[in-house]
Amino acid sequence: MEELKKKIREVPDFPKPGILFYDVTTLLKDKDGLRQIIEILTRRYQSSGITKVLGIESRGFILGPPLAYNIGAGFVPVRKPGKLPAQTFRLSYDLEYGTDALEIHTDAIDPGERVLIVDDLIATGGTAAAAAMMATRMEADIVELAFLIELDFLQGRSKLDGYNVFSILRY
Ligand code: AMP
Repeated sequence: MEELKKKIREVPDFPKPGILFYDVTTLLKDKDGLRQIIEILTRRYQSSGITKVLGIESRGFILGPPLAYNIGAGFVPVRKPGKLPAQTFRLSYDLEYGTDALEIHTDAIDPGERVLIVDDLIATGGTAAAAAMMATRMEADIVELAFLIELDFLQGRSKLDGYNVFSILRY
């Protein structure tokens, strides 16, 4: 795991002062690093009966499809408002300052489907909690939420009470 951490670039003060940004592009461009993280997730979920992987915009779109392909599931994008062309459900959630929202196509998940929610990083957990709430309202059976990185000190897990949460790397 320490080897994987070394492949992630840490950029101070991006996108604003005081934020340490975990730049996963340096891991993704490394063929061994990319293979390792997709293999870890594939091993974990290959026998769990998941039929849809929900990826959160935008880096959930990078990890989600190769994982979905490997475990024989479909991929569903959860996007920022105004990007999806057909009928959507929208859920607004609070940020530190202001609000944001996520959308999903109304026909993306069938009731009772076993789904996995994926993003690159969980910080405060607001984004992931919104995605989970949306999938729950669509009567999905959320098997787990999976992240490459979890920032423990922000306690994002506490917003995901009642859901299973897995992260490959913790800081
Ligand atoms: P949050 O809703 O606070 O858990 O934020 C999670 C979303 O913001 C994820 O989609 C991350 O990609 C992004 N994010 C938040 N903090 C960071 C960080 N320090 N480094 C990289 N991405 C971050």
